[in-house]
Amino acid sequence: MRVKITLACTDCKQRNYNTMKNKQHNTERMEMKKYCKFCKSHTLHRETR
Ligand SMILES: [Zn+2]
Repeated sequence: MRVKITLACTDCKQRNYNTMKNKQHNTERMEMKKYCKFCKSHTLHRETR
C-alpha cells in the first residue's frame, strides 16, 4: 500500500527528496517543510508525480 513520491521545492521547483507514503493515511498531496540546498533554507516541499 506504499507508494514512492518525490518532494519538490515550491520555491525553485527542484526535486530534492524521494520518500514513501502510505496511501491509506494520506490520499492528498503531501507538503512538508524541508531544507533545500538550492535555496539554502527551509522551504515548503510538495509531492510531485
Ligand atoms: Zn528550493
